[in-house]
Amino acid sequence: MSYRVVNPYNGELIKEFPAATDKEVEQALTDANNFYQQAKEQPIEQRAEQLSALADEFTKRNDYYASFLTANMGKLISEARGEVKKTVAFARYYVENGAAALVDQDYTAMADRKAHLEFSSTGAVVAVEPWNFPYTQVMRVFAPNFILGNPVILKHASIVPECAQAFDDACQAAGLPKGAFKNLFATYDQVNQMIGDPRVQGVALTGSEKAGKLIAAEAGHNLKKSTMELGGTDVCIVLNDADLKKAVAGAVSGRLRNAGQACTSAKRYLVQSGIYDEFLTAIKKEFAKYQPGDPLNEKTTLAPLSSKSAQQNLQKQVKAVLDGGAKVLWGDPTAVEGPGAFFKPLIISGMTYDNPMYDHELFGPVAQLYKVDDEKGIVELANHSNYGLGGAIYSENLDKARKLASKIETGQIAVNQPLSSLPELPFGGIKKSGYGRELSNLGIREFANIKTVLG
Ligand code: NAP
Repeated sequence: MSYRVVNPYNGELIKEFPAATDKEVEQALTDANNFYQQAKEQPIEQRAEQLSALADEFTKRNDYYASFLTANMGKLISEARGEVKKTVAFARYYVENGAAALVDQDYTAMADRKAHLEFSSTGAVVAVEPWNFPYTQVMRVFAPNFILGNPVILKHASIVPECAQAFDDACQAAGLPKGAFKNLFATYDQVNQMIGDPRVQGVALTGSEKAGKLIAAEAGHNLKKSTMELGGTDVCIVLNDADLKKAVAGAVSGRLRNAGQACTSAKRYLVQSGIYDEFLTAIKKEFAKYQPGDPLNEKTTLAPLSSKSAQQNLQKQVKAVLDGGAKVLWGDPTAVEGPGAFFKPLIISGMTYDNPMYDHELFGPVAQLYKVDDEKGIVELANHSNYGLGGAIYSENLDKARKLASKIETGQIAVNQPLSSLPELPFGGIKKSGYGRELSNLGIREFANIKTVLG
């Protein structure tokens, strides 16, 4: 198993990290368990102060931490700085609100007997995380569990080891207690061993459906709680009465930010016939403005994909989409040559249910456009998917938009704005997009012992 940083902009190997030894895995589990035991006796306020110090560390050295995102997975430097800020926002939310989400909750049992719920720690959580948001994804698991008193052991994506190490270094620089967080360059076998270890009580995976099935099975086999944050084929619905400018801005940024590599990217545009032509003309104009280049250059607006293999895989998927009968409405589907992992944006239409690529997640700057006549058709098409992660609806009639939002089978949906994750709102999917919720007061309870006390 190799953990390697290869710059996606130029293909240069930057650094390799040796895989964790079994001794390191055992030490991480021992340290994590010691932290778990000690944290039971520690007031939450102390951990809130420590988490605040971690947020300060990321804030003080934003540029330093951002540079690893750009070097490891090619993120535009402006987006990288934004991700570091969001990482801080996730931490600060739990600094300020974590304890309140864990106060006892009163219940009234039958015959007026009193009862309450207590929320307490359960043990170490293994976090298996993806490369597309290397810090925020880790903080989403770490911050709530740290406040709760659960240690977190990270297995990060093998292409972003410098980001994984930087997160660990940040925890040390902030003076977090030993064992509270540990990055391990673990093999898949070591991940499975940890899931089976009694000191581990949960596993949080963010990643693909394929990894989700394997990790969820391993968790199930060991009767360990798991959360699965997986992929999606989110819709961006534009109704006839939408504010065109708002819809176009949301649809385009929703599809092209992070070079199209977000779980909640606007992957399918469902546009009502009355506004379809105008919408298409406008998005073509906007797509044409995106300029590929060095992600460290502030003027670049389209980053490379995360790796050469991601580029080759998407190229293969697009070929299959077109072989299956879909058409390119805008863009050039030929591959970009050279050592960089660039991919030319595309707008595609004519994707039918019998296309072998229908309902496959295209993880890059490829938008699918569908013309729909009425609400019935929109709901049918939107829900014709095995996924259900996010989505967006554009309409100037808020009442109508909210009623439509209720009919879409998804874990979260935004009206008149692209969907984004906010620390105070629950985040997660349904169907093959996974289960469980991160962030908010719900995220902090996922790996808690929710104990009922009667009397
Ligand atoms: P991935 O290939 O599934 O990898 C995710 C993580 O799982 C990586 O750390 C990977 O390690 C690890 N992994 C894969 N198979 C494993 C196994 N058998 N045992 C142990 N670990 C295993 O996904 P990705 O390509 O990095 O990320 C993109 C996917 O994540 C997309 O589908 C995207 O939609 C989804 N995503 C979802 C959310 C959400 O919140 N719902 C957020 C972001 C991304 P290696 O790198 O070593 O293989």
